[in-house]
Amino acid sequence: MGYVALYRKFRPPVFEDVKGQDHIVTTLKNQIKSDRVGHAYLFCGTRGTGKTSVAKILAKAVNCEHPIDGSPCGECEMCKEIAAGNSMNVIEIDAASNNGVDNVREIIDEVSYSPTKGKKKVYIIDEVHMLSTGAFNALLKTLEEPPSYVLFILATTEVQKIPITILSRCQRYDFHRITIDTIEGRLRQVVDSEGIKVEDRALRYIAKTADGSMRDSLSLLDQCVAFNYGEELTYDKVLGVLGAVDTEVFSKLFSALYEQNANDALKILADIVIQGRELSQFVNDFVWYLRNIMLVQASDQMEDVVDISSDNLKALKEQASGANTDTVIRFIRIFSELSSQLRYATQKRILIEITLIKMCKPQMEESEDAFEDRIRILEQHDHENAKLLKGIQNGSIAVASTLAATGQPPKPKKVLEKAVPDDVKKVVDNWSRILARMDNPMKTYLQKARLSLGNDDRLQIVFDNKQLSDKYSNGDSAEELQTFLDESIGKHIEFETRFLEPEQNFEENYVNLQAINFDIVTEDEEKEN
Ligand SMILES: [Zn+2]
Repeated sequence: MGYVALYRKFRPPVFEDVKGQDHIVTTLKNQIKSDRVGHAYLFCGTRGTGKTSVAKILAKAVNCEHPIDGSPCGECEMCKEIAAGNSMNVIEIDAASNNGVDNVREIIDEVSYSPTKGKKKVYIIDEVHMLSTGAFNALLKTLEEPPSYVLFILATTEVQKIPITILSRCQRYDFHRITIDTIEGRLRQVVDSEGIKVEDRALRYIAKTADGSMRDSLSLLDQCVAFNYGEELTYDKVLGVLGAVDTEVFSKLFSALYEQNANDALKILADIVIQGRELSQFVNDFVWYLRNIMLVQASDQMEDVVDISSDNLKALKEQASGANTDTVIRFIRIFSELSSQLRYATQKRILIEITLIKMCKPQMEESEDAFEDRIRILEQHDHENAKLLKGIQNGSIAVASTLAATGQPPKPKKVLEKAVPDDVKKVVDNWSRILARMDNPMKTYLQKARLSLGNDDRLQIVFDNKQLSDKYSNGDSAEELQTFLDESIGKHIEFETRFLEPEQNFEENYVNLQAINFDIVTEDEEKEN
């Protein structure tokens, strides 16, 4: 037998082995146990999160002669046939290449024949959003009233493209991105059972790079093992194979930028280019490094969150202790922005060089700094006015800062100049500081929102919660937020709210204006609390 890719070899055979999707697995097992399996399921979620694996387990479970606690036994004839891919009861269709009406008609014609063996015919339609409108319509009739022995499992990475008529006929399950810890745990099991020696931090790095996808993590592991066959897989080797950069380089780059030494910074970049590193990855990893510095500065108990080796942590702490938090946050902002620009850039190196030079000559960023000053002044006044505000239940910070900035009571609202895209970007760039100035509950609600740019240069505030999205779309809450945003920047920021459905990927559906989430407590926020 030839080489089998790890992700195939370690495809979970039973529900218990599916990682990171407990909410789905538990429900499905209960349905099997109580014999209440539906006739159509829709599995949504990003790639590599286990949709196809769960579909295959479900297909076995409904056909299994003696399921154990809702999972297929793996021993009976049906289980074995399906596992070997020989069963007539499981029909897999890739809608990406079979998306026409005729393809669906073929399925439908076949649906009328009951299975000769086993209990159910299971149709797994992968990437179902690729079906043409005609194909969807043809499928619809069968989905409405399928014979009792038929089970449809539709899987998709883009649920927003599925017609509502189809959605309403399926039980829907949203597959989550898998956490780094969960992926790392699974990789550990895999390498142990394969007898491959791998350093912990090497696995951790692979898990992080896989970005929530179990399948990607196993493919990356495969790649790294193949390069270093028969040897222990170390962190350094993984960095080498995946084209990543060691923390020492980041440390040097950080120092160069901090000391505004453009020559050194450019030299480090040149080395990276010579080594053939992928530049977008390099910038992303550097943002991650900066984020670690910020976390280490925020608290002593961040060892678990920064997930790096103890040696690196020591070095990181040294670097963090000598750095100013505002500057680190400014660096994160600049590199996050750079990261999203690089995605569409052809001249990546030049773009990075420009950024490095700009950072070493801060006078080139004058307008930005002016804005920072404005925020800083507002923050100071917030502090001074905190005492005045005590006892005034509904005193909003916005009013307080107007009072502080002008030294007079707030005047009737004047018409502010409308914000241009640059202003919107400034709001985004300073989002964590703007949040820090908010009162609860608005602060708590908005901390979880993400920012994007909509039509007509509107700021889009994207919630993963429908109620919050509605709450801030109009009425008092929206007005309160409007006042707050306008006060922060001194211009009228038009904004709109959006609801990001659980299975939707933010990056794929929105322009990401913040390449990093500030869902951690920075020093500024701590002072506020
Ligand atoms: Zn069985």
